[in-house]
Amino acid sequence: MEIFENIIDAVGQTPLIRLNKVVPDGAANILVKCEYMNPSGSIKDRMASFIIDNAEKQGLLKPGGTIVENTSGNTGQSLAMVAAVRGYRCIFTLPDKMSQEKIDTMKAYGAEVVITPTDVPGDSPDHYVNTAKRIAEDTPGAFYVNQYHNEWNIEAHRQFTGREIYDQTDGGDFAVFMGGTGTGGTVSGVGRWFKEHAPNVKIIGVDPMGSVHYHLFHTGNLPKAYVYQVEGIGEDIKCDAMDFTVVDDMLQVNDKQSFDMARRLLREEGLFCGGSSGSIIHAAVEVAKELGANKTIVATLCDSGTRYISKFFSDKWMKDQGFL
Ligand code: PMP
Repeated sequence: MEIFENIIDAVGQTPLIRLNKVVPDGAANILVKCEYMNPSGSIKDRMASFIIDNAEKQGLLKPGGTIVENTSGNTGQSLAMVAAVRGYRCIFTLPDKMSQEKIDTMKAYGAEVVITPTDVPGDSPDHYVNTAKRIAEDTPGAFYVNQYHNEWNIEAHRQFTGREIYDQTDGGDFAVFMGGTGTGGTVSGVGRWFKEHAPNVKIIGVDPMGSVHYHLFHTGNLPKAYVYQVEGIGEDIKCDAMDFTVVDDMLQVNDKQSFDMARRLLREEGLFCGGSSGSIIHAAVEVAKELGANKTIVATLCDSGTRYISKFFSDKWMKDQGFL
């Protein structure tokens, strides 16, 4: 057994697991990359640890400094985990639609959390991204992580997520990779790795209805975003961490499809993951039906279901929202 020096060293090396029941007969195989098994419970551990390492190396974050970031909750938990080990203060801004579990967990790690309104345009001063930028400017010794526009976000997924999937699949011996699009870091980084090393693999991003990525990809225009319930994927701004040149297609999924599939993944496959994982697997099953047997899809399960007990895992919440 390997011994790690601290929890940060335990990020990554997540298992790839076959789906058995939610994939219909005659459809392609779906292998899930269990990113929710990262130490803080999401795929964001990879990017957070990579960016903080780089910021330290380049002198952008110094001892006693403060990490500031806008987050849908998972990046905050990942950064707070790194900060706990390395001794930094953390301030996170979070839109008010995100689950109470996420807020409470970030605070439990010792982070300060600023809640902003969800339903404001991307250029509003109250938008969570603009609020984080302002806090970073006003805080001495602050390092603004800037996940939506940071090249290091893409690079983390190229070097780690992409390479790991490549190694686990005999050098990219599968047809399609599918990931959710929040900042765009996952599909852009994994996409860059595979375009370079195994260009036979097609890269598909999954976006919630209401987000801008799907329309930006297909039309080049920024549509008006609207609020949806799935957390962690989708955005209302154009992101520099989204490199569409390495993405082959974008698909769109609605809230009910996402939550129904996330609940099935738990009850039928024992996989305890969040709503964006449900979105990705809903879309992956559709692609698997089109591809047919003897092909393989690799899809990410992005975060842990622990964050959503009070939301889509609750029958009452599902009924209140009209999903059940
Ligand atoms: N799912 C969840 C639950 C997330 O928190 C995120 C990150 N925002 C993603 C998917 C998408 O990842 P990315 O930011 O790399 O596009």
